[in-house]
Amino acid sequence: MRIEELYPIFRKHPSVSTDTRKVTESCLFFALKGENFDANTFAEQAIALGAAFAIVDKQDLPKHPQFIFVDDVLKTLQDLAHYHRRQLGLPVIGLTGTNGKTTTKELINAVLSQKFKTAATLGNLNNHIGVPLTLLAITPDTEVAIVEMGANHQKEIELLCAIAVPDYGLITNVGKAHLEGFGGFEGVKKGKGELYDFLSKNGGTVFINRDNLHLQEMARSRSFKEVIYYGTSSDNYVFGKLIANDPYLTVEWSDGENKDEVQSQLTGIYNFENILAAIAIGKKLGLTTQQIHEGINSYKPQNNRSQIIKTERNTVIGDFYNANPSSMAVAIENIARLEADNKVLILGDMFELGEESGAEHRAVIEKAEKLGIAKVLFVGQEFFKNSNQKSVFLKNVEELRTYLHENPVHQALILLKGSRGMKLEQVIAYL
Ligand code: ATP
Ligand code: MG
Repeated sequence: MRIEELYPIFRKHPSVSTDTRKVTESCLFFALKGENFDANTFAEQAIALGAAFAIVDKQDLPKHPQFIFVDDVLKTLQDLAHYHRRQLGLPVIGLTGTNGKTTTKELINAVLSQKFKTAATLGNLNNHIGVPLTLLAITPDTEVAIVEMGANHQKEIELLCAIAVPDYGLITNVGKAHLEGFGGFEGVKKGKGELYDFLSKNGGTVFINRDNLHLQEMARSRSFKEVIYYGTSSDNYVFGKLIANDPYLTVEWSDGENKDEVQSQLTGIYNFENILAAIAIGKKLGLTTQQIHEGINSYKPQNNRSQIIKTERNTVIGDFYNANPSSMAVAIENIARLEADNKVLILGDMFELGEESGAEHRAVIEKAEKLGIAKVLFVGQEFFKNSNQKSVFLKNVEELRTYLHENPVHQALILLKGSRGMKLEQVIAYL
């Protein structure tokens, strides 16, 4: 079936599902193939659960009045999302980067929603399936969309841009993550730079953190219709400085004419640039200083990123949604700067680092041990391989729990950070 024919069906049944556990009455079920399953086999079940139609591509499935046969379900999902985005004709802000995409997306959304009806990526749905689902969830009354784009190999951002057609773009930063898939740090720059390539070719506007030399260099090698700089120096469109990090960040910012000081509900000096990015976008899209203030001030993370968790005995900086060498470094630098008599670091393994894993874990150990923090706990196989006498090394979360049970921590400021797969949230109850 052609997209032009499928589109009116989608408009009648705008709720889309790819998971039979989430099928809702009258939705469209897209039967995608995963590594371990082929959802074509669930198409009938989806219909039984209430789906209006199932989009399928296993041509030998029995004919069914509610099956729509296509060549490739994933491609159809992507094409339909692209078609819908074209029909909507609203401004789309695309953002990618190594770290801080979700936080910056949430901040931009919190700011822009003070003036506009916005749509934004739900959670972390930022890949070749998540981006189409994000776009298909945009309702016709939406005025601006904010789309997070994630990637762990080349050409992925190119594909996501082709689908989402962003008018505005932001690369939060480029750092060391997914080094295996990208082929080293230069590969990361190239892969993330595909957003700049798209905006450069299609007359888009880019927002660039002028304090980030990598981004500056990447921008210099391309030409853009419009470049909006933000950063710490007063020659930027929006500039600001960090006023406090106690542990909540307070930022002062200005556009040259107006000035404001705003307290956020985020911790982590690295969020300073995320906040400035959201302010610059708010300003460019015509929000008042007061609206921007409200947006930044109102955003409270609930997503295990830069989150302050007060337990009965301790204050935990919960940052265990993900970890890679660059986000680990900034998180460690952040706690080092915070005022507290008693600090504890609990750091879990960083995944997906390929050949550089050993060296990167050793670098984190060295960095953490230099700070003179009395208690540093490393958790996971990769850290454990590099054990020394200075710190405590534990093989896994079970060992960590036992350790914390036997050596309880009191009245401390604790940084809890590691890759998602480490499941560090399981130890909160022991802190
Ligand atoms: P993912 O790749 O999982 O989608 P993401 O890019 O969306 O990650 P966030 O989830 O916003 O990033 O943040 C993850 C962690 O990255 C934060 O908790 C923090 O440790 C770190 N981080 C956030 N912003 C920055 C930044 N500007 N620079 C460096 N590290 C950052
Ligand atoms: Mg994210």
